[in-house]
This record gives sequence, structure tokens and C-alpha cells, in this order.
Amino acid sequence: MSQKFDVIVIGAGPGGYVAAIKSAQLGLKTALIEKYKGKEGKTALGGTCLNVGCIPSKALLDSSYKFHEAHESFKLHGISTGEVAIDVPTMIARKDQIVRNLTGGVASLIKANGVTLFEGHGKLLAGKKVEVTAADGSSQVLDTENVILASGSKPVEIPPAPVDQDVIVDSTGALDFQNVPGKLGVIGAGVIGLELGSVWARLGAEVTVLEAMDKFLPAVDEQVAKEAQKILTKQGLKILLGARVTGTEVKNKQVTVKFVDAEGEKSQAFDKLIVAVGRRPVTTDLLAADSGVTLDERGFIYVDDYCATSVPGVYAIGDVVRGAMLAHKASEEGVVVAERIAGHKAQMNYDLIPAVIYTHPEIAGVGKTEQALKAEGVAINVGVFPFAASGRAMAANDTAGFVKVIADAKTDRVLGVHVIGPSAAELVQQGAIAMEFGTSAEDLGMMVFAHPALSEALHEAALAVSGHAIHVANRKK
Ligand SMILES: Cc1cc2nc3c(=O)[nH]c(=O)nc-3n(C[C@H](O)[C@H](O)[C@H](O)COP(=O)(O)OP(=O)(O)OC[C@H]3O[C@@H](n4cnc5c(N)ncnc54)[C@H](O)[C@@H]3O)c2cc1C
Repeated sequence: MSQKFDVIVIGAGPGGYVAAIKSAQLGLKTALIEKYKGKEGKTALGGTCLNVGCIPSKALLDSSYKFHEAHESFKLHGISTGEVAIDVPTMIARKDQIVRNLTGGVASLIKANGVTLFEGHGKLLAGKKVEVTAADGSSQVLDTENVILASGSKPVEIPPAPVDQDVIVDSTGALDFQNVPGKLGVIGAGVIGLELGSVWARLGAEVTVLEAMDKFLPAVDEQVAKEAQKILTKQGLKILLGARVTGTEVKNKQVTVKFVDAEGEKSQAFDKLIVAVGRRPVTTDLLAADSGVTLDERGFIYVDDYCATSVPGVYAIGDVVRGAMLAHKASEEGVVVAERIAGHKAQMNYDLIPAVIYTHPEIAGVGKTEQALKAEGVAINVGVFPFAASGRAMAANDTAGFVKVIADAKTDRVLGVHVIGPSAAELVQQGAIAMEFGTSAEDLGMMVFAHPALSEALHEAALAVSGHAIHVANRKK
């Protein structure tokens, strides 16, 4: 007799494990299937995000920023340290410990919520049956009323730069360098390329980012993207736009990268090369031919607005479906699907998913960009407040960037909040909360903000929408 569940979740990333916990909390008999094994060879939950994504990259960003500060700005505060050095293996070991703590924490939560964990590869068969194949090849078939596919994504590989995880690495390999490369090449000026490039640049690597597109961060608000390019370039990242990589040659632990830009063919040698050109959905051996679940033209599992696939009772969430490849989007889809399976009404606001790039300064946005609104023909008013005018930012010696609030010219409703600056991720979330409740720029301007705080910049930017900022000269309307 095969075991029967109300819900089976395939994949224990932030989409899948949250969906499993929520399902169990709602009284559904839930199973979770995960095949990934961590560095110790044991099943590790948490998916890309906890093991080789959000968390380890932020651990290295924080370590490298502390090194940078000790090196560059402690003097300013009157702190002398003697020679500052970086021990890369210790930095990597700290990161690994954080990953272990968090993935272990997820395993405890799964257990505490009564979710049954199956270690192995999950595959959806016809008739909502799920086959689990363990690492030793043994398999069993589970029965269920509902399936949630949460198999996530993996790095895109490109033929001109085949990853060997030694000299040419993907984002996973770039989290495990054992020393600082002298010259580091990064293919792709996206979120991951800029974050990982920043880590190693702060530690002393000479970093060149090769980006095939002519435009820097095209999805980000143009004013913010322009400022980001200026600041990151000043920090030492050499960002080459319109540079398409055509080939690589690895010799004596070095890689020569050939690329074409507006001036013609060029080549450059690096000690390490990170390929960070995007991620693609994982559907390999996930769906039996007669499962009935269909993919869209880009290889993502096809789902409707509520994450339902083409088969009733089968859902898909996170990176394996359309939309932003972000952990918080995956988790929220997991919650919505669990609620709907339990018979509740639930939906997600796809218009208000904050997006953050954890460089320093951070780059973050929620809602629409100025260029998108203009392209739609929406009349807007914009308020901008620079951190250079913020007392808290000055006290912290962290004054680069600004907060930008965009409001509908007719209704004054806030349509977008974009930030480049210290704690941009936290500030933009305040904008997201305000927008979720349909706030106007005037409402936001009438609220009391703690002083001194970085969030005063959001307050002032909201006031600046109508030309009423206090601590900066207002633009003539
Ligand atoms: C370097 C890096 C930094 C990132 N930083 C951020 C960030 O700061 N913020 C952010 O929001 N996002 C970030 N992301 C993206 C984020 O990691 C993903 O959006 C998120 O992990 C997607 O969650 P998911 O649950 O859909 O899939 P995943 O996290 O990819 O998890 C899928 C899981 O399913 C398992 N699986 C797949 N197929 C099967 C199968 N057939 N059977 C059993 N198990 C299976 C996999 O082993 C994996 O554990 C980053 C990504 C990278 C690579």
C-alpha cells in the first residue's frame, strides 16, 4: 500500500519548504521531497537560497564590506587597526556555518510542523502520483490529492564559457574561492554578477564585468541605474557594456576571454571567470510524459495567476514558473497555494514584489519605474531626496544615493519607490507597505518618522513629490 497525503511538495527551496510548512499548519497531511546534498553529503533543505544563493552571498558581502570599511573608512572615525588582512578560508567557513545553521533550522521546522520528509528525486506521474527515487536507486510511489512543484532553477551555461568550477565558475563556485583572485572577470552585469563581483573587488581583486547589453540594469529605474553605474565604477568595478563574449581559453590556471564590443574583437586574461548570465527553470526528469503538466515557450512550468498548472490539483511555484526569480516571490506563492488547497481565498500582489541588489550602496525598487510609467503614458510627479542631506547617513559616513518616490499626477497615489543608498532594502519595504495600502505621497509626507533615521529620506522624498521637502531645495514645478 502506498502512503497517501493531502499535499506533496517537490523541492525544499524557499518556495517548497514554506508551502509545506503552511500546508501542515492548515491541517493538511504533507510530504516534502528534496534531493540536494550539501557539502557534508547530507540532504540539505532551503534550496538555492539558503545553500548557494541569497544567504551565502550576503554572508560574503557582509564580510567583504567589513574588510573594506576597516581598510578604507575606520581611519575617518579615528580608529587605527594596524595592517588589515583577509583570511579567505575563514571567511568562507563562516559563510558555510551560517548555511548549516539555517538549513538545519529549516529541517527542524519541517519536523516540528509534522511534515514528512522524503530524501530523493521526486517525479510527478499521471493521476497525481509521485515517485520518489532515493540516492541508492530504490523508489516508491506516493499518492496525494495535491502536488506542489517547486524544483527551482539553476545557472544558465553558455557555450563560449564552459564552467569547470575551477577557473571558470558559476555563482555556486564563486562562493567558494579559497583566495582572492588577482584579476576576476564576470560575465553578466545582473544582480548576481554585481553582488559577487563586489565581494571580490572589496577584497582586492581587479574586477571586469562584461555585459552583452548596451544598457546597465535595464529593469531598474533609469535614474537609479545611472547612479549605480557611476558609484560602482568609482568603487573599481570595470563595467563594459555591449561586450559579447565569444570564446574562452583556459591555460595554466588562467582564462583568456574573447569578446566583441563596439570597437571590434578584444581579449582579456583573468585568474577566475564567473559566468552569471541568468538562471533557468529545473524540469529535468520532473514530469512523466503522461503527467499532463505543460511548459511554456521558455521552458517554465505553465501556471495561471494562482499557480495552478494545466492539471487540476497540481500547482507550481517559485523559480520554475513565470515571474521574478526571487526567494520572497517563491515563498509567498507557496503560502497562497497552500491556502487555496485548504479552501481559503488567497492571492498574491505581483505588482508589489520588492527587488534588491545587495551592492553597497544597495539598489532597491518596488512598483513601477519612471521609464515604465512614461512609456504607459501615465502622468506622474516625482520626489527625490539625496542621502547627502540626511543627518543619519552623514553620521554613518554613508551618503551616496537617494530615495525616489513616484506618484500618479492625478490621484497622488504612490506608484513606485526606488532607492539607491544605505539600507535600501529596508527603506523600499516601507514603500511597499505604504503602497499595499494605497497610500498617497501626501499621506506618506504627513506621517511622523523617527529622527535621525535613514527612513526620513523616504519621508522627504514623499514631501518632494509636491515640492514640499524641508531639508532639500525643491525642484521648481
Ligand atoms: C548567488 C545568488 C544570490 C541570490 N540572492 C538572492 C537574494 O538576495 N534575494 C532573493 O530574493 N533571491 C536571491 N536569489 C534567488 C533565489 O535563490 C531563488 O529565487 C530562490 O531560491 C527560488 O526558490 P525556489 O524554491 O523556487 O527554488 P530553489 O531555491 O532553487 O529550490 C529548489 C529545490 O528543489 C530541489 N529539486 C529540484 N528538482 C527536484 C526533484 N525532482 N526532486 C527533489 N528535489 C528537487 C532542488 O534540489 C532545490 O533544493 C539568489 C540566487 C543566487 C544564485
